[in-house]
Amino acid sequence: MRKVLELLLVAALVLSFSLLPSAAFSAVDEAVALEAGPAFGDSEAVKAFWDRRHTFEEMEQLLKDLAAAYPNAAKLYSVGHTWEERPLWCLEVSGGVNTARTDGKTPIALIGNIHGGEHESGESVAYTAWWLLSAAAAGDAQAARVMNEYVTYIIPVMNPDGYVNSFTMNTRQNMRPTDRNGVGGPFSDPYLDLNGDGVIGQMYTGGTETAPPAARSSENLLGYESRDRDGNGIFGDDPKGSTIDMNRTFDYLWNYNRPYETPPLGANAWASAGPGAATEPEVEAIQNFLRVRRPAALITAHTGIQCVLYPWCYSPDPSPDDAFFAETAEAMRAAFENTVVPVRGEKTTFYVKRSYEDYPTSAELIDWAYGRFGIHAYTVEVYSRGTGQDQWQDPRPSANEGDWVYLGNISDGRSGSNRTTYENVWIWNARSQQLLGHAPPDQQIMGEGFKNSALVMIFSEGSQALAS
Ligand SMILES: [Zn+2]
Repeated sequence: MRKVLELLLVAALVLSFSLLPSAAFSAVDEAVALEAGPAFGDSEAVKAFWDRRHTFEEMEQLLKDLAAAYPNAAKLYSVGHTWEERPLWCLEVSGGVNTARTDGKTPIALIGNIHGGEHESGESVAYTAWWLLSAAAAGDAQAARVMNEYVTYIIPVMNPDGYVNSFTMNTRQNMRPTDRNGVGGPFSDPYLDLNGDGVIGQMYTGGTETAPPAARSSENLLGYESRDRDGNGIFGDDPKGSTIDMNRTFDYLWNYNRPYETPPLGANAWASAGPGAATEPEVEAIQNFLRVRRPAALITAHTGIQCVLYPWCYSPDPSPDDAFFAETAEAMRAAFENTVVPVRGEKTTFYVKRSYEDYPTSAELIDWAYGRFGIHAYTVEVYSRGTGQDQWQDPRPSANEGDWVYLGNISDGRSGSNRTTYENVWIWNARSQQLLGHAPPDQQIMGEGFKNSALVMIFSEGSQALAS
């Protein structure tokens, strides 16, 4: 019964994508094995850049270029959409993907950027797609093996709305319309770059025309750069971005609450979980896609703490596959750490944990994937912005915590006699905000490390050698 249902779902999915002439499936029945080398295409066909971040448009273009350049090994389709109707692009990578069946191959999924501000996670996943295709065409044996024995579903950006917004302001969340201050409807007081310097800073009073305020406190803080469009007298208190963490919103133990346990479970998820299990269009789309394609293993890529995590997130108890997870995750960690090089004398290190031991959460993607379907699911965290011994460093010459920038006089959005004008306002551009548009200095090596980690995971799953 379940098998029949699966087949129907697969058929429905194939039809709904309909990017492929239906004859292609019936014309060639056999999965194909291609020799490493030019059979996959021209290894130089797509000259991607990795020294800065891709805008979402550039990311889309890269995926389209890869699909166009490697028709023998890649196809591109959207598996769903966001609140703002951006597509969730998936590049399906496998030898003969457009002309032969791939259903004898082991399915794998790589998903980046569930948290919009974590651009590096999207870069790392996109790098892996580009590497697989270019390297297979150049004759690399590992890439060719992935092409011949696996089908890899690569979704670099799962939160495109947050990704786009994060070039202005770090936006972990998605864009479900949210009215944070109860005035004027959703997103009614968005941030606005008032002085046009490309950074949204916080505005303070208490300075003069020539000297910034002596201190920063709640007493002299006006808010983030904005026009107070909703006219409640508070600047930037209804910015774009929901309050939802999509990685607390999957349909597995959604909002699981055990506040009486130690550590209390649920506190972390309760404040940020979506309004119900899989309520968000992005989460629903990824669940549907994974439910049908049923990968043997997946990585959800994040940015921040340089580690490899595995289930469970919700419980300290070992999962049935704990020994396998621990061994594979440790090999993935070592592969990443052995690839990266010291930057300015500092070597980036990585650690391995059960996700619960990092901190307890629930309704994460990896718990859903493993708990529902037994998918071997890992969280891989790549580099973070900011400073610290294991993080990449500020590319600006000055390493100040932030900079003061003079703005001038500004009025809030209230009307008539309620309007208040503040004189000699200064903007505090915190360094973390200024770094939003910058890539780590060794972003390509970071991508290489992630790719090597992903290869370890892929080869940890069994595959069937295909007849040539
Ligand atoms: Zn994250």
